[in-house]
Amino acid sequence: MAKVTVENLTKKYGKTTAVRNISFDLEDNEFFVLFGPAGAGKTTILNMIAGIGDPDEGRICFDGQSMNFIESSKRNVAMVFENYALYPHLTIYENIASSMRTKAHREPEEVIDREVKRIASLLRLEGLLDRKPSQVSNGQKQRAALGRAMVRKPNIFLMDEPLAHLDAKLRNAMRKELKAMQDKLQTTTLYVTHDYAEAMSLGDRIAVIHQGEICQIGTAEEVYNMP
Ligand code: ADP
Ligand code: ADP
Repeated sequence: MAKVTVENLTKKYGKTTAVRNISFDLEDNEFFVLFGPAGAGKTTILNMIAGIGDPDEGRICFDGQSMNFIESSKRNVAMVFENYALYPHLTIYENIASSMRTKAHREPEEVIDREVKRIASLLRLEGLLDRKPSQVSNGQKQRAALGRAMVRKPNIFLMDEPLAHLDAKLRNAMRKELKAMQDKLQTTTLYVTHDYAEAMSLGDRIAVIHQGEICQIGTAEEVYNMP
């Protein structure tokens, strides 16, 4: 639920310019997709919005305020990656609950319990909360990783190829779930993918990235029809 403004971002790694003079806005509650091939610079952009790695030039604002001046707990950004990053020794329940027990912010256990169960029901994980990640399928792991990010009620949701490890059937099902989740959660989402169909089906708007630069930006229809 925040507006993000990215202005003239440039990021270099040594002699490589990973991202060159990138600008775009994420509107409140928008599902915005960064689409492009491997090496295009998508993850570099996402990471800078997450506060991982400073830009060499340009700036990022949250609701009009430069990101450098907002504490990370106030930005409340949640990330989901392709490799789940669940704790293997914790149950699915504890994995989800753990993200509500941060140092900065600690809810009472009964609030945590209610929220974990609400999200588990939304993601159809109810019967699996006592299992460890090794005891559930990849699709279920991915849903648990989503759940862990969702219980934090993020203002901004950053997702980097979250469906990349899933087979085609499951990926399709998860796309639908992500869309449904977006409608329910009302959160601003930045979603990175190299998958064209995924970009076109999920994005309210899509930025096509090539060699560190945006070459197209618009709705699926606009991107499809651009020369
Ligand atoms: P994408 O997410 O689109 O695959 P990345 O943002 O990961 O692209 O990478 C963009 C470019 O920056 C690539 O050329 C990549 O090799 C380079 N790059 C990314 N991270 C690093 C790093 N930590 N050190 C050096 N080069 C990097
Ligand atoms: P889904 O499509 O719901 O992600 P799958 O079709 O991959 O699940 O698996 C079907 C059922 O098999 C699931 O209910 C899941 O609990 C179980 N299952 C799948 N993989 C594993 C695993 N590695 N260990 C234990 N159970 C598994």
